[in-house]
Formats: sequence, C-alpha cells, structure tokens
Amino acid sequence: MPKDAGAQSQPKQRKPEATSPDEVMDLKAAADFLKVSKPTFYRWLAQGKLKGFKAGQQWRFYRRDLERFLETEEPAIIPTGVDDIEQAVAAARKARGLPPIAWNEPGQLLSPPSGAETPEESVIPRVASTIIADAIDARASDIHMEVNADGARVRYRIDGVLNEAMTLPRRAQAPIVSRLKYLADMNLAERRVPLNGRIRVRHHGNDYDVRVTTLPTIYGEAAIMRILDQGSVPIGLERLGLSPQTRQAFERKLREPQGLMIVTGPSGSGRTTTLYSALNLVNSPRAQILTIEDPVEYQLRGVMQVHVNRKAGLTFAVGLRTFLRCDPDVIMIGDLRDLETAEICTQAALTGHIVLTAMLPSEAVGAITRLVDMGVEPFLVGASLTTVLAQRLLRKVCPSCKTEYKPSPAVLRRIGTSDEEIAHAKFCHGAGCDQCVHTGYYGRTGVFELFEMNDRLREMIARRPSADDLRAAAVEAGMVTMLRDGIEKAKQGITTIEELLRVLALYHG
Ligand SMILES: [Zn+2]
Repeated sequence: MPKDAGAQSQPKQRKPEATSPDEVMDLKAAADFLKVSKPTFYRWLAQGKLKGFKAGQQWRFYRRDLERFLETEEPAIIPTGVDDIEQAVAAARKARGLPPIAWNEPGQLLSPPSGAETPEESVIPRVASTIIADAIDARASDIHMEVNADGARVRYRIDGVLNEAMTLPRRAQAPIVSRLKYLADMNLAERRVPLNGRIRVRHHGNDYDVRVTTLPTIYGEAAIMRILDQGSVPIGLERLGLSPQTRQAFERKLREPQGLMIVTGPSGSGRTTTLYSALNLVNSPRAQILTIEDPVEYQLRGVMQVHVNRKAGLTFAVGLRTFLRCDPDVIMIGDLRDLETAEICTQAALTGHIVLTAMLPSEAVGAITRLVDMGVEPFLVGASLTTVLAQRLLRKVCPSCKTEYKPSPAVLRRIGTSDEEIAHAKFCHGAGCDQCVHTGYYGRTGVFELFEMNDRLREMIARRPSADDLRAAAVEAGMVTMLRDGIEKAKQGITTIEELLRVLALYHG
C-alpha cells in the first residue's frame, strides 16, 4: 500500500490557529496539509485546481490558497472508507446480473483514469464511469443522480420511464458529482447555481455525447445527464411508426414548394426525431436547408445548423430573419414559443419556403389555437399552415417475453372500443425478462395524429374556433386521432392498452 494511503483514513487536522495564512509550504507539507498523496497533489496541480508558485526548481504554496481549496473543493477529495460505496454499486449490478465494477480496455469509458494510484482514489472515478456505462448498456436516454435523506439515488430513463438503478451512501453524491463536473469541464467550485457541460465518452466502440446539468438542491448538488448517441441517429420517416396513410400525406406536404408544418407534443414526445427525419427526406445537394436549434442535437450532413445563443443575441427570431436572406428552401426552427418567431414563420411559409417547427401543445388542433392565442392573425395561420403532426412515444412490447393476453373490461371501456372491434385483436404484453430489465417493454414507437388544412378548416380558423369544434371538424375531414392510432397499434400487439392510457393521460385534458 502506498505510504500516503493510510494518512487519508485519519480525520483531517488543521494546523494550529497561530499559523499565518501567509505561511509558505513546500510540496510535501502542502500534500500533508490536504491529506492526499503526492501523485494526487501533482494531478490537481496539473489540472489547475491548486495554485502555487515556483521558487527555483521547487514548488511553494501559500497556506491561504490551500485553505481556499479545502473550502471550495473538499467534497471532491476522495472520502475515506469507500468500501460501502463500492459494495452498494456491486449489489445493484448483481441484481441486474452484472459483475462488480471492472475496468475495460484503455481508451474506453471504463478505462482507469491516469494518475489514480491507490484503489481508494480510483473508486469515485470508477463509480462515476460505471454509472454512465451501465446507463448506455441499459439503453437509457437520461441519468438522474439525486441526493435525499436516504442516500444518493441513481435512476435511468429507459424508453421514457425512470427506473431506479442504484442507491449509494449519501456521502458518495458530492464526490461523484464533482467527478462528473470535472469530466464535463465544469467549474468545480461553483455549487450554488445550475451549470451545464458535456462529456464525450467512448463505450464499446461507439461515441456518445453526455450533456450534464447540475442543480443545487437542499440536500446537495444533483446531476442530470442526457445521453446522445452520435453513432446511430434513429431517423427516417419510415422508422417512426407512422401509418402508411399518415406518412404519405405528411411526405406530400413536405415536397410542396411552401408551407408551415408543425410537429407538436410535450418535450420527450419524439418531435425532434420527426423533424430530423423530415429534413433527411428533403436533404439533397440541390436543397438549401437551414436550422436554428437549442441545442443542435444531431448533426446532419449537408444541412447548415445554427445554435441559439441568447447571451450573444442570437435568438430563434434573429436567426430566422437572417436565414431568409440566405435563400433557403427549407427552414427548421427547433422551438416555436413566441409571437415574433411565429409571425416570421408564417411569413416565410407564405413566401416560398417549407418551414418546419416544433410546439408544445398536446394535440394537433391545440397548436393552432395556441398560435391564435399568441396573437398571430387567424387568417395568416390558415393561409400558411399546411399540417400539424401531433405525437407521443409508446413503449413497445418486449419481443423476448411477449405473450398474448386479454386486457380487463374496465381498461377496454376507458378507451371506448366496441366488442366487435376487439374480437379479432391480438393484444400482447411482456411478461418481463432480462432483455427488457423486467419492464415488459423494449424500444418505442410513435402514435400520431395529422391535421391537414383544407378550405373548410381554413375558413373555420378565421372565425377563431374552440379546440373542441376544430377537432370535431378535423376528425370529420378524416383526421385519425392519436388515441385511434394507438388502439390500432395495441390491437396488433405492438404496444399495450395500459401503455396507451399512461401516455395519453394528458390527452384532451
Ligand atoms: Zn422482456
């Protein structure tokens, strides 16, 4: 065991008060003062975490700088007695049939960090990397690391639903979050305000972009991470779960010379993937395509993508105005939330551009009433808008444990199907297996409703109709609601009625 490792397990002792903050220490004294080994001390020095100066060939440190470091960085220091942290991770992994943490080959996510020379020192980096690696292996889109009175809780969002992954001792939270912040190149000393950063990781030969956000909570700093898979962009209108009729109608509008096309739904409903899939369809060397996004989530070859930068004054509206001088064929605006942006969108859609954008209302007609409520002239909405595609993501029944079942009569009543309609349905659900981490679901598909403008609906919008009236008219004109689309998918055994009810809970209030 390296000689300094023993020192770490002793309680921290400050030198007597009599010592002046101007006291100058050499490197060994400074490392002893911080109760860390020399290699760790050197690493922190190389990382710029510690401030020192050179006296000839020797490093010297002011005591006040070391004290400030302890005040701001202390939780980043490896806690002593880390066995319980390691055991908690091993127990959580064992429950999922995984071995205790182990390093992978160099260059991969789980490769050991350089410079950590004692097992104790490497525990926190190892646990932090394991949390990310396990999330990727479990197909998680997000990682939530929060701390409360019971401990540090790690949850993974898989197919849109949060699942508990592990609970660690409470004191593991601060050093793990510090490690994540370090990896994400964030300010370690700032714990009072939310921060953003990103970690680029390589795992099993694939590259991932992990967006890290930290939040100060009453129990300590929480970290929320979004995992973006740079390797496999799951785009393509044929892969979203659109019914053939809906897809054809949507593609037809996309190939027209102009028009406003809105994709709507709450965040996490798959709108961005749909927008990228639409851009992918019209992307060709002859088309000029511009996007303004916050943030740019996937890079599309041949498309000019712009990041919103509010601090620098680059808002959706400013970007959009500039775009119109660049003679684009297709414009994508990541988010339509304000009147100024909405007005420029409608104008652009009336002057020879396809304008694609996303809104938040939960149903197709909701996007239209929202635009009018924002203050866009109803006749402009009617004139510019060609389609609104509303959508949600449903979990698909796991193919490895799929079995036929009969949903309860109460559940069937809630969706309002008739006996004859379901007579030939093949309802399926998942019994639960290792493949789907015992959730019964694996992967997701969309449910959609496509509002298509026609003369009658255009006239109606000019009279500022209620959402109910507009919806009834749209259904009469042939719109298949998300509920109907979802029932069809449940009848084919793609998803379950229960999942449909869960996802559409907000639907129609
Ligand atoms: Zn399964």
